[in-house]
Amino acid sequence: MMNKKKIIIPLMFLFLLFFFTSEAVRAQNEPVVTVCIINGRSEVMLSSTAGLKVIIDKKNYSISAQEQLSFGASKNKVIWEEKQLVSSVFRVTTQGKGFILVNSRPYRGSLTLKNVTGKLIVINHLYLDDYIRGTIKMEINPHWPEEAVKAQIVTARTYAVKNLARHRDQGYDFCASSHCQVYGGVGAEDPITNKLIDTIKGLILFYQGQPAGVCFHSESGGYTDSALNVWGRSVPYLVSVESPWEGDSPHAQWQLEISSEELTRSLQRAGFIQGSIIDVQVQPNSGKQRVNEFLIQTTLKKYRIPASKVREALGYDRLPSTFFEFAPIAETIFQPRPTPKPKVTPLPSPLISDNSYRDDEDPGYREMLDKDWNLDDILTFLSLREQERQKSNSGQTNQPSPPNSKEELKEKEVHEIHTNPNTTYRTNTVYLLRGKGYGHGVGLSQWGARGMAMQGYSYQEILFHYFPGCEIKKARFK
Ligand SMILES: [Zn+2]
Repeated sequence: MMNKKKIIIPLMFLFLLFFFTSEAVRAQNEPVVTVCIINGRSEVMLSSTAGLKVIIDKKNYSISAQEQLSFGASKNKVIWEEKQLVSSVFRVTTQGKGFILVNSRPYRGSLTLKNVTGKLIVINHLYLDDYIRGTIKMEINPHWPEEAVKAQIVTARTYAVKNLARHRDQGYDFCASSHCQVYGGVGAEDPITNKLIDTIKGLILFYQGQPAGVCFHSESGGYTDSALNVWGRSVPYLVSVESPWEGDSPHAQWQLEISSEELTRSLQRAGFIQGSIIDVQVQPNSGKQRVNEFLIQTTLKKYRIPASKVREALGYDRLPSTFFEFAPIAETIFQPRPTPKPKVTPLPSPLISDNSYRDDEDPGYREMLDKDWNLDDILTFLSLREQERQKSNSGQTNQPSPPNSKEELKEKEVHEIHTNPNTTYRTNTVYLLRGKGYGHGVGLSQWGARGMAMQGYSYQEILFHYFPGCEIKKARFK
């Protein structure tokens, strides 16, 4: 039997050789990206099981494992509390192989601490693929078929390469939110995706020799959409393609009922329209699968609003995609009455008595309070009130109801705005949207990739299908 030591020592040597060689090769070929992981805090705690090294103006401080350091913002600089050292920048790395705990959350790579407008920001420096490790689980389920996960990894890596220095003005490449890609450090990693990232190391999508400007979404609903339709910019590899593999996706079929009232509120809040919606039409895209624009008539103006903007205003969960059929299903139709209305509409009683109806939140009530009353109005009003009281006293119970139902108030609004007595006005219409898919629909469909992988397609075939004309190659960095 061989001596155990005789095996272990060469093995350790081999491991160290492999580790240092692979790290050295890595350093040559793989870019280091910078991600802002903390923005705007007044204090941050750091530690590492490997021990930390704090670098200030080329001076190094070694910190033993388990020791916790606290940094704070001090006017326009950063202060290292334990040493009472102040500097505009602190660099922090580990002494050996290990993670840095930032407020107890582990991160790979190293850190820079800076003061920006009186608050701390912490920037994480790490290899591109280590960044992808900390983002990919937020984008795709690691337990999906491998080829689908690989297709997502290549897409996410390509997206990162293409968007490097997205936050150059702020001094880093990416933020850690969905604006770039949601990044959660080591805590967000998964052993399955970590392994798959290594098997397709450095591969990204190119178009005509340049990294492609790729994008992805959850479910296409059967057809992806083109960048031209959604963003008004033609991209040769972001065109509409079939995606018939999404039958079991969660939004394979969805239905939304929405009233013109809700649509009015949402689009007003987003600053897209003024006035109340009285008519809605939709304009299909060139392939006729998706809705490109909403044509909206309000009481004040006509608007053309891209369907993607309407999704944004309503909320992506409320309107899952722009792939839908659209029809009014119920509408309250109001027509001006043939007889002229009295100059003054009878008011609800509470204005002058302690009667039951009063709702300060009711827009109709507020409208009446705001009205300018002249003497004639008041006299007419009081005489109407007197007639009502006499009727009431003589035993009649059918008192005029206050205009407290929303329909009645709407009717009033519409009549006030439109003066043509022969026109029929629609208001409070309910629209039915029957749709498919979830997301903007451009580029890789994740559920489509899953379906393709289940049918036996490779990640390359998946990517070539959703990004026609692209190539998959190793990214080269200078
Ligand atoms: Zn960002």
